[in-house]
Amino acid sequence: MRRIRTGNIIIIATLILTFLLWFLSKPGLDEIVKYPLISINQITALLGTLLLSWSLLLITRLDFLEKMFDGLNNVYIVHKNTSIWGMALIVVHVGALALGRLPNVSQALNFFLPFHKQPFVNLGVWSFWLFILFIAIVFLRKQLKLPYHVWKIIHKFAGVALVLAFIHIILIPRQGPASLINLWLVSTTGIGIASWIYYELFYKILAPSYKYQISEITKLDDVFKIKLIPKAVKMQYKPGQFVYLSFTDSAVEKEMHPFTITSHPTEKELSFAIKVLGDYTATLDKLKVGDVAQIWGPHGSFADKFLKTNKDAIFIGGGIGIAPFLGMIKEAKKQTANKRRIGLFYCTKYKCNACFDAELTDGYNNNTNHFYLNKCSRTDGHLSTSEILEKIKDIQNTLVFICGPKRMVSPLVNDLISQNIPAHNIISENFDF
Ligand SMILES: Cc1cc2nc3c(=O)[nH]c(=O)nc-3n(C[C@H](O)[C@H](O)[C@H](O)COP(=O)(O)OP(=O)(O)OC[C@H]3O[C@@H](n4cnc5c(N)ncnc54)[C@H](O)[C@@H]3O)c2cc1C
Repeated sequence: MRRIRTGNIIIIATLILTFLLWFLSKPGLDEIVKYPLISINQITALLGTLLLSWSLLLITRLDFLEKMFDGLNNVYIVHKNTSIWGMALIVVHVGALALGRLPNVSQALNFFLPFHKQPFVNLGVWSFWLFILFIAIVFLRKQLKLPYHVWKIIHKFAGVALVLAFIHIILIPRQGPASLINLWLVSTTGIGIASWIYYELFYKILAPSYKYQISEITKLDDVFKIKLIPKAVKMQYKPGQFVYLSFTDSAVEKEMHPFTITSHPTEKELSFAIKVLGDYTATLDKLKVGDVAQIWGPHGSFADKFLKTNKDAIFIGGGIGIAPFLGMIKEAKKQTANKRRIGLFYCTKYKCNACFDAELTDGYNNNTNHFYLNKCSRTDGHLSTSEILEKIKDIQNTLVFICGPKRMVSPLVNDLISQNIPAHNIISENFDF
């Protein structure tokens, strides 16, 4: 059974608390039942705004969030889900307002137009349309083939929409003293907006970062192997973690992209393996030795279960998904007294795509507890669960780590679960937020 993460429990608790505070702000159940549309309109606005505030808090990459959700990749999954649900609830909120005006169609339609006498209503309408535009882009992103940096610019508007929603909430006329629900709403939305401002304006300056300089750069197939040395302080990290990297003093764009560290923490140099996948990575040819990079991080807890236990482990890396295992394998080799069994499957299309094959084969020659195979799909077929199971001695006590493209990771995880590998022993990542 999958463990419910602390972060998810806290989100659910805040949703329940919001509902209870709203319920307590009502004179009685009668009023809720008597005016169902008003109740729906209020509760969807409250829960929707809360979820959107969560979604903005989750982009800050703050350490405590990684702990609450077991890694930044999970933080981003929750960010995506809270955004989608939050926006859906805001749509229901406006829909309920409009429905309340029926059968007067023109009054109902008026709710969707920003021409009201009260400015707070217009702000709400603008916020609603920004959210709608954003939802449309979320769903059409793949069809529109939007490059990631364009997508990121559009993303910023979700924050603007929440700021408008916040001012809309503040300006709503209220009778009587501030109630608990109002205070709660203003505080939670305030946290959401503060998070957005921090991320957009201050993250690059305030978040821990390190300056490195390229000491070596090679290209094999379509993968750049880049080594960097610290300019001042060396970053401390764990094998398998990733950072946000920006080549600040070089001929390439200063964009910040996430890349996994392939070196081991004890090495002097920090290494990366970067595959050409899109418009930014295609420009890395312009990099040269001596160029300076700024590095934010480290992030991620992909290898934590491997590092904290002594269990046997199977690593499955698809293509550039081999990256986290390069550091983890170095760690396994250092644990000479440890007799745990480690198996590594490096899945590539062809042998020539396996740019780490030579160094991985080298490391496996003299350790009987370690097993390594480069599985080439075009010549040997795809990696099957039976091949994996063959290498597992104790099904309940073996960790299986998978990193690769989604089309490889998802079916493999499902197959392994159907073969009785406990879901909590399967740790997967697909390099996509
Ligand atoms: C945790 C993590 C670790 C990664 N480690 C590696 C690695 O070790 N080696 C490697 O080659 N690649 C790695 N990637 C993928 C790498 O970040 C993208 O391939 C790269 O950013 C592509 O940028 P692009 O502009 O060339 O391509 P684009 O065509 O713009 O993007 C291709 C896809 O890459 C992803 N992507 C692009 N930019 C970002 C970004 N700033 N943040 C999050 N996702 C982005 C998006 O899913 C996008 O759809 C990792 C990704 C993540 C999330």
